[in-house]
Amino acid sequence: MARPQLGQALAGKVIVLDAGHQLGNHNFPAQINRPVPAGGFTKPCNTTGTATNGGYSEATFAWNVTQRLKAKLEKSGATVVLTRKSNSENAWGPCVDTRGLAGNKRDADLKISIHGDGSTAPGAHGFHVIYPPDRAPWTDDIFKPSRRLAKITKNMLVRTDFSVANYIAGGDGLDERSDLGTLNLSDVPTVMVECGNMRDRGDAAVMTSPQGQARYARALARAVRTYLG
Ligand code: ZN
Repeated sequence: MARPQLGQALAGKVIVLDAGHQLGNHNFPAQINRPVPAGGFTKPCNTTGTATNGGYSEATFAWNVTQRLKAKLEKSGATVVLTRKSNSENAWGPCVDTRGLAGNKRDADLKISIHGDGSTAPGAHGFHVIYPPDRAPWTDDIFKPSRRLAKITKNMLVRTDFSVANYIAGGDGLDERSDLGTLNLSDVPTVMVECGNMRDRGDAAVMTSPQGQARYARALARAVRTYLG
């Protein structure tokens, strides 16, 4: 068999990138509040997401990191599928059920959902990586590889000089959650990365800067390459 070309480490791989929320969600309350299946229960279609105290939206942060990460993965030969095609005040969604199912039809190798958190707890800062639990019949099939992807993602973020969240139980930058449709409906390994706390001044400075966004993309690209390597 031919060896992969230099720089094409991800040739043949399909990766779904889910940039959290849509910028215009707050303009479409009826659509956004509609209940949708989320893995044994229903949840609102989506939320507005959070923002920095200065008003820089989570949607825009997630979109910018996703665009940078997409470019890096494509350069390595991957096919990248996005769950939303724009970052627009005139658009909404997709809902969490659509986001959850996004990798299944394409038989994607993995899905990463990119978010920023909005904790108002004093001093709360840092990133955490969420993965689904061993819960039949929803995520028992993807629990192990998702947890592995979460650990690798955490390690690569730490190596790229991000610090783990100081406000999430466990304190190790990892969080197992069964309440997220985006994870519950996936049949492919998946994690949700809360890249930082947008309400924290220090995290906000990094998350709103092009340099900071590039650093997130670098860490996440390393995580994908390591997981699939
Ligand atoms: Zn979010």
